[in-house]
Amino acid sequence: MDLLRNAVRPYAWGSRTVIADLLGRPVPAPHPEAELWMGAHPGDPSWLVGPDGSEVSLLEAVNADPVGQLGEGCLGRWRGRLPFLMKVLAAEEPLSLQAHPSAEQAAEGFEREERAGVPRDAPNRNYPDPTAKPELVCALSEFHALAGFREAARTVELLGALDVPELRGHAQLLAADPTENGLRFLFTTWITLPQTALDELLPPVLDACVRHVREHGEFALECRTILELGERHPGDAGVLCALLMNRLVLQPGEAIYLPAGNLHAYLQGSAVEILANSDNILRGGLTPKHVDVPELLRVLDFSCGDMPVQRGEQVQPHLTVYRTPAAEFELSRLDWPANAPNGAVPLGDVPLGGDGPQIVICVEGAVRLHTHDGDELRLDRGESAWLPACDGKAHIGPAGPAPARVFRATSGEH
Ligand SMILES: [Zn+2]
Repeated sequence: MDLLRNAVRPYAWGSRTVIADLLGRPVPAPHPEAELWMGAHPGDPSWLVGPDGSEVSLLEAVNADPVGQLGEGCLGRWRGRLPFLMKVLAAEEPLSLQAHPSAEQAAEGFEREERAGVPRDAPNRNYPDPTAKPELVCALSEFHALAGFREAARTVELLGALDVPELRGHAQLLAADPTENGLRFLFTTWITLPQTALDELLPPVLDACVRHVREHGEFALECRTILELGERHPGDAGVLCALLMNRLVLQPGEAIYLPAGNLHAYLQGSAVEILANSDNILRGGLTPKHVDVPELLRVLDFSCGDMPVQRGEQVQPHLTVYRTPAAEFELSRLDWPANAPNGAVPLGDVPLGGDGPQIVICVEGAVRLHTHDGDELRLDRGESAWLPACDGKAHIGPAGPAPARVFRATSGEH
């Protein structure tokens, strides 16, 4: 096992405090820091740091010794690629409105863009990878997001509460067909409105949101979000479409799984995210980046209802697992309370089993990792490690009396 050095992505929506603070650097950072990437993504792989300080890219290490690093099972199933990427997300401002394709849609879209000769790193490339990109996001701080379509009948109530004369016809259509089909029709109408129509429609909608917030209406949180998005992205159809989405507040440790076709936009907060190692993103708005509405409409899932919020399943003392249908990854969390008995294997240590690769990151306190052949590694807050398949079983436990918390990424096929 090796200590990891990870790339920080400086997207403009990032926080200047969260990642710097986690990594023990001066706060605030000179630039926004949005994502810390832990994995072997070709765009920004992690680096394995040897005891002498020498570094080798995790991507190169995997390519040089796929059997040793990934194990036979993972190697065969994912064709020599590490199937997951773990991130720390730190959103100071909202991210784009987006969805990700299914495995079939990704394979087809990738093939189509290859045939059309769109360079894989072109800004207008929708499918740089032939694979799906399911993701799970688990809150580190209170985390705000828009995700999935709200129950249509509830959206009819929201539109009724706002009572915007210009939207009355739309509200009536949805009330007459409060289903997936009604939502598909309304979303498609709104996201394809010409700019002149949007410029007429958005101001009365924003005025209605201001009124609703002042009156402490039951959709005040939703309306505040619409106002914030409207201020950041004037004239953007995504502002209107956000009216149709679930507004979520996740507490630390709570997670949501975003399957293919789920429309989402992260708003604010820090989280650990685990995802399939793919960059296929279809954006619908709220961003200066490439937006492709027709392609988004092809992959969107219009089923509606509350997003299931997961708190994870405690499978043994200290170990909580977030289960999803994704075969590419599994996220688990390890927690030790304050004053945990220190150093005693049966009391504090947790076996990190598995015949595949693992990445762990310590987000609180300090932990000690050890393998059966006597290899030891201490991780302080913000530090992370790579455990290759060839290390076999390892153990992890608190390195002192303080509370400790770790997130672990593995592949999902156990
Ligand atoms: Zn996403």
